[in-house]
Amino acid sequence: MINVVEPFLPDVSNYNRYVEEIYSRKWLTNNGPLVQKLTSRLEKHLEIKNLLLVSNGTVAIQLALKLLNCQKNIITTPFSFVATVNAPLWGGCDVTFADIQANKFNISPKEIERKIQPDTECIIPVHVFGNPCDVEEIEKVSKKHNVKVIYDAAHAFGVKCNGKSVLRYGDISTLSFHATKIFHSVEGGALVINDDELYKKAVSLINFGFQSGELLDVGINAKMSEFHAAMGLCVLDEIDHIVSRRKVIYKRYVQELAGVVGFQKLTGDVEYNYSYFPILLENEKELLCLEKTLTANDIFPRRYFYPSLNTLSYIKSMEEMPVSEDVAGRILCLPIYPALSDEQQTKIINVIKSSNKIPVVRSQS
Ligand SMILES: *Cc1c(COP(=O)(O)O)cnc(C)c1O
Repeated sequence: MINVVEPFLPDVSNYNRYVEEIYSRKWLTNNGPLVQKLTSRLEKHLEIKNLLLVSNGTVAIQLALKLLNCQKNIITTPFSFVATVNAPLWGGCDVTFADIQANKFNISPKEIERKIQPDTECIIPVHVFGNPCDVEEIEKVSKKHNVKVIYDAAHAFGVKCNGKSVLRYGDISTLSFHATKIFHSVEGGALVINDDELYKKAVSLINFGFQSGELLDVGINAKMSEFHAAMGLCVLDEIDHIVSRRKVIYKRYVQELAGVVGFQKLTGDVEYNYSYFPILLENEKELLCLEKTLTANDIFPRRYFYPSLNTLSYIKSMEEMPVSEDVAGRILCLPIYPALSDEQQTKIINVIKSSNKIPVVRSQS
């Protein structure tokens, strides 16, 4: 059985080394030494400052909105994981969608500008599948209209564009370190905050609002534990291998499937992390056929992202998002992870190639 993702597990003896440290120290959470170590190692690895570890990527977005005082209207993309829209809704914001670019799958700066209203406070673009947004264009729009930018960078770990970390753009970037992500700490996430004062505020907000022992503002509990940080440290030791193996798999898919299926267009001048391999089919019917064929061959791709978020039952706006809805209807993410063997990838490629040439094989259910 080949799944779309397989969580990366480091050598258990490496993890145990950290666990023994934790046991002897009896410091389990509250900004412990492993959380501190992971923080500084990540800042160095990502070439950024002001990284704040938290318990997951969704709470990172909620915190970012709180830090920037966003309570009214926010603009985001309909083509993302549901957490991108749930976080602002949970915080009581109104959500307006701006449609995506057909080839890059990222929110369109032109559409953002068209959707800005007098009460728009913030834009939440997503670097979809790690492909950087048009960050310069989004910066122009946000400056012109005086709105904040929170990048949902859940997929963009280690990605650079224009020679620097993509996490340096916008007011705040949020990361997810969920088990299925390219870098993970089982559950976890982070905020990367450009402004130093705002960063200090965030440090207190994730710890109930405590600031030098005093309580000055409403906080929450979003702390990362030492056990999670330990997993993060182990995975970080292997990150170069993880990325380079994914790169090999990615390049082979591109080589073998060019002309057979559509690909995401990567933004120019990008140092990519090869975190996903999405393919575009002609239409939803073709997608469902291919999915069936793959499944019949014990290969389990994922319809991701699906559905387009503007079609969720609890979204009030009835506005259509033609590009996002079209892409969501015919996109499939293929298995890509270090443990995927050459033979397994050959099987996936062959199934896709043959299912496109001959009438689709039926599963024997
Ligand atoms: C995974 C993900 C999140 C949520 O992160 P969690 O750590 O699972 O809470 C948010 N946005 C996107 C785009 C994601 O893929």
